[in-house]
Amino acid sequence: MSTKLRARRAVETLKEYHPPLGGRDGLRLDFNENVDGCSPLVLQTLHSITAETLNKYPEREPGERAVAKHLGISSGQVLLSNGVDEAIHLLAESYLEPGDETLIAVPTFSMYEIYALATGAVVRTVPSGAAFEFPADALLAAITPETRLICIASPNNPTGAIATRAQLLAIVRAAPQAAVLIDEAYIHFGGESLLDQVGILDNLFVSRTFSKAYGLAGFRLGALLGSLGQLKLLRRVASPYNVNGIALACLGAALDDRNYIVRYVAQVLEGRSQLEDFYRTHDIPFWPSQANFVLAYFGSYRQALVEEMRRRGILVRDRNSDPGCQGCVRITLGNRLQTARLLRELPAALRSIAFTPQPHPTLAAKEAQ
Ligand code: PMP
Repeated sequence: MSTKLRARRAVETLKEYHPPLGGRDGLRLDFNENVDGCSPLVLQTLHSITAETLNKYPEREPGERAVAKHLGISSGQVLLSNGVDEAIHLLAESYLEPGDETLIAVPTFSMYEIYALATGAVVRTVPSGAAFEFPADALLAAITPETRLICIASPNNPTGAIATRAQLLAIVRAAPQAAVLIDEAYIHFGGESLLDQVGILDNLFVSRTFSKAYGLAGFRLGALLGSLGQLKLLRRVASPYNVNGIALACLGAALDDRNYIVRYVAQVLEGRSQLEDFYRTHDIPFWPSQANFVLAYFGSYRQALVEEMRRRGILVRDRNSDPGCQGCVRITLGNRLQTARLLRELPAALRSIAFTPQPHPTLAAKEAQ
C-alpha cells in the first residue's frame, strides 16, 4: 500500500525497542521488578475500589500533595507521571529542539535515547569506565552550549554503578542551559540522592518510580521532582489525566506502608551480597551493584546460561547488546526465598552448561594496572 503520510523524519529512522515481554512465565529476575509482590495495604485498597474511581477522570493533585509530603518538598515541585518513562518523554518534548544535544553515559536505560531521538535531537553517548564507573569528567567535557538534556541514572541500569553527589552537582551546575535528569529509580537500594537540591538548582530534575521497591510496575506511576517554575511548563505538555485513577487511589497506602519497603529492601540487599559472594568465590567477573540487580560476565556461555535458567523456571536478562556489555547477564534479586532458589539453580545451571569462568577483557586489564 502506498502512503503519503510520513512521520517526523526522526521517528522514521528510530529503531524499534522490544523488551522481551512474551512468555515471561517463571521467576522473573529479568526486569528489575519487585518479584516479591507489593504492600498488602495496596491490595486491600484495591479491593475497595468503587465504580466512582473508574467512571470519573482522575485527579492527580491530591497524589502530588501526598508524594510531596512524603518526600519533604512542596507539592508544586512534584509532577506525577505515567511511570518515569512518561517523565523522560515530557522532558524531551519540553526542552529539545531538533538538532539540540542530549548527553547520556552508556550503558544505561534505553528510553533516554529513544525519547530524545524522537524529537530530532542528537544523542551524544559517553562511555562509562572499564569498571562501568560513572564517567564524570568525560561527561563534563562533552557539555556544549547545544546540550539541552542530560539523563543520568544513579544507581544505573544495567550496571548498578552510582555517581557521587559531588559528580552529579558538578554536572548540573556546568550545564545551566540543560535540563538535567537524575533518575533515582533504584535509590531505595543504594546511591546518594539529590532530592534536597530540588528547587535550589533550577535545571535539576529528579525522578522516582513506584515500579521497583514499591512493586507497582503495573500501575505505571512515577514522580518527576523539579523547580516550581520548570514543572509549571511541563504541566502544559502533560495530559491532566496522565495517571490512572486506580493507581492514584492506592498511592496513599503505598506511601504509608514504610515497613513493607524496609523489609523488602533488606532482603534484596542481603540477596545482592550473597549473589556477589557467589560470583566472587567462583571467579565470575561482576560489577558490584547499588541496585536490586547484579550484572556479571559469562562470556561465550551467556546465551546458554540464559536458556538453561529459563529451562529451570528462572528468567534472567541477556544484556549482550548493550554498549560494553558483550557476554553479560543481569540478574534481579527478589525476596529471601527467591534468592535461595536462585542460588540453588544458578550453580546447577552453570554445571549443566559446563561453564568455565573467563576473565573480562577490560576489567582484567584494569585490575592488572
Ligand atoms: N529508569 C530506570 C533507570 C529504569 O531502569 C527503569 C525501568 N527499567 C525506569 C526508569 C522506568 O520506570 P517506570 O516503570 O517508572 O517507567
